[in-house]
Amino acid sequence: MIKVYNTMSGSKEIFKPLKKGEVSIYCCGVTPYNAPHIGNARPFVTWDVIRRFFIKSGYKVRYIQNFTDVDDKIIKAANEQGVTWSDIAEKNIAAYFKSMDALNVRRADFYPKVSETMDDIINMIQTLVDKGFAYVLGNGDVFYSVEQDKNYGKLSGRKLTDMMAGARVEVDERKHHPMDFALWKAAKPGEPYWESPWGQGRPGWHIECSAMSLKFLGEKFDFHGGGSDLIFPHHENEIAQSQAALGDENSFAQYWLHNGFITNGNEKLSKSNKEMVKRNKGFFTVEEVLAKYPGEVIRLLLLQTHYRNPLEFNETRVIEAQEFFGKLAKAYWQLDDLARRIHAGEFIKDTGEKNFAITVSPAGGLVEEGERLLSNFYAAMDDDFNTALAITYMFELAKEIGEYYGEFINGEILPVTIDGDIILRVRDIYMEMAEIIGIFEQPVPVEKTEEKTAEPELVNALMKIILALRQDARAAKNWAVADKIRDELKVAGIVVEDTPQGATWKKA
Ligand SMILES: [Zn+2]
Repeated sequence: MIKVYNTMSGSKEIFKPLKKGEVSIYCCGVTPYNAPHIGNARPFVTWDVIRRFFIKSGYKVRYIQNFTDVDDKIIKAANEQGVTWSDIAEKNIAAYFKSMDALNVRRADFYPKVSETMDDIINMIQTLVDKGFAYVLGNGDVFYSVEQDKNYGKLSGRKLTDMMAGARVEVDERKHHPMDFALWKAAKPGEPYWESPWGQGRPGWHIECSAMSLKFLGEKFDFHGGGSDLIFPHHENEIAQSQAALGDENSFAQYWLHNGFITNGNEKLSKSNKEMVKRNKGFFTVEEVLAKYPGEVIRLLLLQTHYRNPLEFNETRVIEAQEFFGKLAKAYWQLDDLARRIHAGEFIKDTGEKNFAITVSPAGGLVEEGERLLSNFYAAMDDDFNTALAITYMFELAKEIGEYYGEFINGEILPVTIDGDIILRVRDIYMEMAEIIGIFEQPVPVEKTEEKTAEPELVNALMKIILALRQDARAAKNWAVADKIRDELKVAGIVVEDTPQGATWKKA
């Protein structure tokens, strides 16, 4: 049972997909006018992990994310740089993908752009005009009329009167109500425009997400996401115009999920905060951060806090995340090493039977522990995608693996007849967690300290030779030599034990 916090109801609800076994998601994408900062990246990492989790849980997921490639900021940047609006958009879309790839964010099923969805946008505006929810001004501007919509404000829980009191509303005498918002903007000189029934112009911001989600996901879909700054007015307006156009107040997104802000010095991360930009010089945009630290470390840091909670971002926290990542990566490396050794037949004790003893008794316990932690991991994810808690279970398993690996390498574990696939099962469990969190998909650095294991490895190799020589002596009934080897080893701190399967050794 998966529970999600729905902004619409203000409570955690049991998730019931519209179609059994399927999940449809729309997440508001970026306006590609400049380089995004880490705060802009949070919703995409959040939805990437939610999507991975649903897929691992057996759902078929359809995920749509837009690019607002027609926008005031893009036009402004184009004019300043003396290039076209599409040059600006394409350049920043490419930069967006580069950053998201580094953060292991898988690609959406579709990335609709405003410039490519114009017909659907215009049709939807026309429907709103026809139904009396929108009005056209003499210059060709089209506005949504909030007073015609009795449900306006249902997501943010605001009433029109409260909005008026709290908001600094730009006075536009031409609007019927100050909260009315633009669906279509008549073209101004020097701006890109498209032909429409109301003359040349371009869409307002909110209408694109309504038109795109309806086009790619239908009249009803499961999730709509984005940063909590989008609740009002963007998502409020999306709901208003979509449900008005469809004539169904239960249509459109069923669950509204919003991620918290990323802060720096307890202030919301923002490019317009000049003082903040200055104090984080060279460590502010996603690109700058990724130039210094691996994407997987940044991803882990973002997921170590529940998506709804605020997350303080600074270099100290990145360094902490890097250390933590190192601990998780160590277990990854250890499992890999164990699997490799087992595959290579190292440490295998041949009992003369086909199923020879491969590995060691405590591994049985390790599998049980892994299964328990995997079940906890899923329970944490079931509870409103609590990645922060899920990661602690992964870390617990990493510690168990580390202990086991140490004992194995030091020869403290006695070989008994247990299936060697056990290590592979633990590895599968660990990698299942990693796949949902979305780490270990890039080359995992091996810590230099791992070189220390060279010594126990050598000891193991030498002990193999010594015990083989002693076995030869015993086979030749040369008891004096066999006993001498055993006694000398005892002095050196190694205890040899003879078992029906042959001699074993451990440190005294
Ligand atoms: Zn949107």
